[in-house]
Amino acid sequence: MPDQVGHDSLIFSGTTALAGMTAFSLNELMTQYLFNPPAVPSLPIRGQAERFPINRIFCVGRNYHAHAVEMGRPVDKSVEQAFYFTKSPQTLVESGVDHVAVVAYPPRTSNYHFEMELVLAIGKAGFRVSEANAHELVYGYAAGLDMTRRDLQLVARDKGRPWDTGKDIEQGSVCSEIVPMPGVVIERGAIALEVNGATQQSSDVNKLIWNIREIIADLSTYYHLQPGDLIYTGTPEGVGAVVTGDKISGRVEGVAEVALMIGAAE
Ligand code: MN
Repeated sequence: MPDQVGHDSLIFSGTTALAGMTAFSLNELMTQYLFNPPAVPSLPIRGQAERFPINRIFCVGRNYHAHAVEMGRPVDKSVEQAFYFTKSPQTLVESGVDHVAVVAYPPRTSNYHFEMELVLAIGKAGFRVSEANAHELVYGYAAGLDMTRRDLQLVARDKGRPWDTGKDIEQGSVCSEIVPMPGVVIERGAIALEVNGATQQSSDVNKLIWNIREIIADLSTYYHLQPGDLIYTGTPEGVGAVVTGDKISGRVEGVAEVALMIGAAE
């Protein structure tokens, strides 16, 4: 009786969660799904056994002047607002110094780009948060790669279409462990990336056009920010393409490192 097997395994996983003192309502325990729901995407937390469950992934567009210029769209902060796009939590890939992620070269692109970014992890809910209070939402930070099908993104941009196929890429949101820094607003720190040992990106997060407080305050005017939300804060200049066999390593000083190997296309 295959359906009975599925039912048993669902109840078993719920019981295991209860035994682990994880919050798990009776409703959730008793809900019967047609098939087992996908696992909650999550990342390890430095120094803790618990994992950080991911709610949403937000990304800030054009947040370093030199990158905005290399993309042919300079930013005038006096007249422009920050803009955002999202990537599915299911695109997340865990990475670190001792954990080189290997991902297949994705389909439908011939210009697959890296973007090294400081990632902000939200730990408390907030809506219309002031810049002065923005730090209260910070759980910690990570180092991440906002991998991008640049060819598709630029076609979409120039035709006024959504960026989804250019940005929301399976295995395209690479992230290190979350480093707990509750209430801390990072204002500076080297951010760098190498491909096969050669430096491609080298900047400082003090060059963010919209800083951590401004990002939290502004994004919280569009969304009710929730614990588990990640915000990729944007990439500095030097973005470029990788091919099968390339090894990417990147870091944000004082936070964490990522390492990614590009595998063969499927
Ligand atoms: Mn990006």
